[in-house]
Amino acid sequence: MESLKKRILEEGRVASEEVLKVDSFLNHQLDIQLFEEIGQEFYKRFEGKRITRILTIEASGIAIASIAALYFKVPVVFAKKTESRNLDVDTYKSQVYSFTKQKTYDIQVSKRYIHEGDRVLILDDFLANGKAALALTDIVQQAGATVEGIGIVIEKGFQEGGKLLREQNVQLESLVIVDRFKNGQVTFMN
Ligand code: 5GP
Repeated sequence: MESLKKRILEEGRVASEEVLKVDSFLNHQLDIQLFEEIGQEFYKRFEGKRITRILTIEASGIAIASIAALYFKVPVVFAKKTESRNLDVDTYKSQVYSFTKQKTYDIQVSKRYIHEGDRVLILDDFLANGKAALALTDIVQQAGATVEGIGIVIEKGFQEGGKLLREQNVQLESLVIVDRFKNGQVTFMN
């Protein structure tokens, strides 16, 4: 997706050896026109799949999934990271190790919002080691539903998530794949 690559090149900041910051359009300030393009592109790539729900994880995934849902015309469910008295007691739970935060946390989805037989599209902003996507997959499987695909805005090809997920025979669509960071500059694989 050329427009996305352009924005990454112009505005992305390499924050450490492995972390890319794109706060000006994806993770803090949100460029909704770009999100529309992203949503359309996901819709094109998963055309023909009878998706019944989109599943993502708070916080950054929510906006991406919401705009994409305008095209898929299905509900968005997001996994919650924090315990809350508002959350139903009956939940599917899984664990995610975050390499950016360097800690493990629980995610939860109420059993009311994913059902047996659902055909779920998982969407997220970044793919690094694949822990978030695998935990979301685990929740879908606990519900007796199926993962129809995984859509990622920015995959970092030098981390292992892409390989792990492709080995699972799931349709993984990454709109851009970052090859590496060289002297603070991003290069792409696709
Ligand atoms: P994974 O679970 O694949 O290791 O990491 C994916 C999650 O970590 C994403 O949900 C994203 O929020 C966060 N993440 C991983 N790498 C980056 C990065 O380079 N930049 C940003 N902004 N978030 C990242």
